[in-house]
Amino acid sequence: MPLPAPPATRADDRSCTVTLFRICEDGVAQDIIELANGGWQRHDFYMRLALVVESGAKCLGSHVGAVIVRDDRVLGSGYNGTPAGYPNCTESERGCRRCALRIERPDQQLAGKLYDICLCVHAEQNAMATAARFGTAIDGAILYTTLQPCFNCLKELMQVRLRGVIFLREWKAGHPEYAWVSEEYQRLVDHYRSKGNVFARLDQQETLDAVQVEIGHPV
Ligand SMILES: [Zn+2]
Ligand SMILES: [Zn+2]
Ligand SMILES: [Zn+2]
Repeated sequence: MPLPAPPATRADDRSCTVTLFRICEDGVAQDIIELANGGWQRHDFYMRLALVVESGAKCLGSHVGAVIVRDDRVLGSGYNGTPAGYPNCTESERGCRRCALRIERPDQQLAGKLYDICLCVHAEQNAMATAARFGTAIDGAILYTTLQPCFNCLKELMQVRLRGVIFLREWKAGHPEYAWVSEEYQRLVDHYRSKGNVFARLDQQETLDAVQVEIGHPV
């Protein structure tokens, strides 16, 4: 069976699709992922996985999915929601009061505030916790997340020695009462990058060129 023509290289087009072919040869089925540009489409592939994971999120706030990858293999995944077995924010009991208040009382302007009393475990935290639970070392791995990590997730992924973070949507660090919070976040990002780690948005093609997904260990 002739293969369809591979997609043309569109290095600056994020919507470029990863095409999956199934070839049957002597009764053996084989899947091939056609990568138009191996330098960046692998990142796109893992981000698509993170988007699928995101579809499981059960929080009233932003839905986020995360995948941890090392040596081109998935080590863990997670989406945001309350701890396992606890009522979710989307259920009628409203698992997290803060998440519920964000919707019910927008006048209280809870966005960017009181993360420490939010019951929802973030997608990145769930991905790291799952790896820990099953005894999988994740130092030197890359995290793909559909939303830029918050302060807590950034601190934690630095501490477990993830060597890269690639995110899809931007998140702005800030606090209505403290103008310096966004600068503090940027200082943390700058420090992380200064150690040879990657912190990039998927759209930033020029930054991603430097990433070597196949290499496992931190510099
Ligand atoms: Zn929630
Ligand atoms: Zn919450
Ligand atoms: Zn977070």
